[in-house]
Amino acid sequence: MDKSKLAHAVIFFTDPSFIQLVACGTRELNLDNGEKLVIPDIVKTTMHSTLVELYLSHCDETDSQPLSRSSLFRIFNACSASKRSCLKGLDNISAEGSAAFDTCIYIISEIEKMGLLSAWSKAISSKLKSYKMYLKTDFKLHLEIESRCADHCLQWALSDTTDKSGNFKVHCLHKHDISCDRCSLLENFKLEMQNAFRQQPPIEQLKDLQYDFETAIEKIDEWKKHILRTVN
Ligand SMILES: [Zn+2]
Ligand SMILES: [Zn+2]
Repeated sequence: MDKSKLAHAVIFFTDPSFIQLVACGTRELNLDNGEKLVIPDIVKTTMHSTLVELYLSHCDETDSQPLSRSSLFRIFNACSASKRSCLKGLDNISAEGSAAFDTCIYIISEIEKMGLLSAWSKAISSKLKSYKMYLKTDFKLHLEIESRCADHCLQWALSDTTDKSGNFKVHCLHKHDISCDRCSLLENFKLEMQNAFRQQPPIEQLKDLQYDFETAIEKIDEWKKHILRTVN
């Protein structure tokens, strides 16, 4: 394999956005010269095929020449990492954010039972699922230190608005005049749900659902902030 291409791919694949360090457990790397390296165990949080797709599109956007698809998969076979879908106890913010999506799907099905069209619930559920997929994958690649899209602008998102010293905030010199349709999915989803709640008779069960919905949205927002901090 071309060593510089290999290094390029490995750096991308080991980006903290896609893996999770585990506090307990180590594994040994056996080098060809007999040396042994002990490294902390890591867990991949993104599927191999998704990572390869992301990497190829990243190469395409940055005009770099990637290794072939099959070589990329061979890298994964060589660097074994545990694959786990459940992050409970490892990364609670992500685990709770992910569970909040399931809560929203449940709430949608309950509202449907109250008499909303099933076509509506199907459409809104699929929007929600695609937003979850987006948070887990491409969202990280949209983020930049400075961006005219407010959702992508790290320095703006991470600035502390209550900070008087000015050390923990940055004023963007650009305007935030671009919006991203994929980042807007969440806002659209919230609006549609609030609309759906308004159309129902205000019975006790609906209030419970509304409360669960608001809590779930907070968890999703926390997950999004967590990703921003990780990338930063
Ligand atoms: Zn900005
Ligand atoms: Zn976006």
